[in-house]
Amino acid sequence: MISISKLYYSQPWLRELKTLVLSQRQDGDRFVVVLSETIFYPTGGGQPHDLGTIGGLPVLDVFEEEGTVYHVLPAPLEEGCEVEAVLDWERRLDHMQQHSGQHLLSAVFQDEFGYRTESFHLGTECCSIDITAPELSPEEQDSVERRANDLIFQDLTVLTYTLQPEELHTVPLRKIPDREGPLRIVEIQGFDYSPCSGTHVQKTSQIGLLKIIKAERYKGMTRVYFLCGKRALEDYKHKHEICTNLVALLAVPEGELERRVQAELDHRRDLEKELEELRGELVLLRAEQIVRSGSSPYYLEMPGVGVEEAQQLARAVLGLAEAAVVINTGERVVLAHNLPDGPKLGQLVKEKATALGGRGGGSPTAAQVFFPDPAQLEAFLRLLPDTLWTDPEVQPVT
Ligand SMILES: [Zn+2]
Repeated sequence: MISISKLYYSQPWLRELKTLVLSQRQDGDRFVVVLSETIFYPTGGGQPHDLGTIGGLPVLDVFEEEGTVYHVLPAPLEEGCEVEAVLDWERRLDHMQQHSGQHLLSAVFQDEFGYRTESFHLGTECCSIDITAPELSPEEQDSVERRANDLIFQDLTVLTYTLQPEELHTVPLRKIPDREGPLRIVEIQGFDYSPCSGTHVQKTSQIGLLKIIKAERYKGMTRVYFLCGKRALEDYKHKHEICTNLVALLAVPEGELERRVQAELDHRRDLEKELEELRGELVLLRAEQIVRSGSSPYYLEMPGVGVEEAQQLARAVLGLAEAAVVINTGERVVLAHNLPDGPKLGQLVKEKATALGGRGGGSPTAAQVFFPDPAQLEAFLRLLPDTLWTDPEVQPVT
């Protein structure tokens, strides 16, 4: 096993380092490099790996195997040479804020309500923990968030140290480790003691802020989504922008936004209801006009009309007379009748329209069919029986 110095543990605030290339191997079009010391944290313990550059080359991946940290690069370096390693500090600081925030949040959930943390996910946008709460009340959520932020403002020291198995009883570990041997402990000054291999802030104040975004039930537990540090600030900024825009858009003070939006929604619902009633009246008037203007069968050309509106009109006409109605919307034909001996429409559509490339169906007294090609629709109309078809310009084929 190659011995290397993991400076991300001993000096987690170190951003740059001059170090030596100990070894290198090629893996496809990538190069896997071991350095004499490293500031790059490898993926592990729920925390993603660091990024940055080594010898000016971008670091693509960092992983650990049997205690050795491997850095994946797109091009080779020179073995034995000194290189400069530079961390993507924004990313590392973000990971430390989220990870320390997670320890704090998990500890408060356990201390306040006895809910244990079963898993932790540090995502690129949001972090989450699964806690052993079948459900979480808004009051519990609020109280945990307040306490976690109080502990952040108290500026508690975050300590990391290694304990031998025989020393473990000296600290009240939040989680019993599932492996043997010496354990690295992350302590939030007298409040939380967790076995952890991640990188952490030095003071809770460096977490900045912790905001619970959402809590939802998940496999008998509760998944709690949260943001820390700059992520929480960015989220606040984003939501503040939305709020400011809504204030300008609705011309009301911020405190009245909710009431105003609710009033607008109520008003819209009333208008929709009124519109629905007016549409119904209009359809009836049109049906009366159609029935007065001629005799069954009624053939109507209504380009662009929706299928539901056409069906509604057909039903209205049949409500006024014993008749047959054929509505041509340009791409669809809607058919309906209430004739005692009228053709079976669903069957007619299946037999005549399908062969022409149409798609549709229906019941014996109401059907509709769609044609991708207007010529197919015209051909279909010509195949309709006399009881359905009265276009004077195009005589049906019998
Ligand atoms: Zn941890």
